[in-house]
Amino acid sequence: MDGDFRTQFVRDPASLKHYPALVLNADYRPLSYYPLSLWPWQEAIKAAYLDRVQIVAEYDHVVRSQRAEFRIPSVVVLKDYVKPQKRVAFTRFNLFLRDEFCCQYCGAKGDLTFDHVIPRARGGVTSWENVVAACS
Ligand SMILES: [Zn+2]
Repeated sequence: MDGDFRTQFVRDPASLKHYPALVLNADYRPLSYYPLSLWPWQEAIKAAYLDRVQIVAEYDHVVRSQRAEFRIPSVVVLKDYVKPQKRVAFTRFNLFLRDEFCCQYCGAKGDLTFDHVIPRARGGVTSWENVVAACS
């Protein structure tokens, strides 16, 4: 029995890293969509411990420290409302989303990249106004 008792305390990091927590704002909306606001499970447990979030849902999986055990949160809600970012992040995914995953020159879908409408060599900047999805 002693052996069984000890193995309960053996943590397997590899089996735990796949337990992200969805982080919701105080109004229950995700903090961000692309990418979706996720925390590693360690962050979620820390925030819950510090009373910064309320746990809405949990995984079945339990982690144990020397003094306590926790079920890993799967959804947490911030207790304090965070003002959402008004600007949409200029990311590859968001740009393709705006351009509906189509080349803006010929409409083809598939292997996409970016194109500067005014080339960088001629002073074109990397911005929402000057960059479009295009065939690679
Ligand atoms: Zn094209």
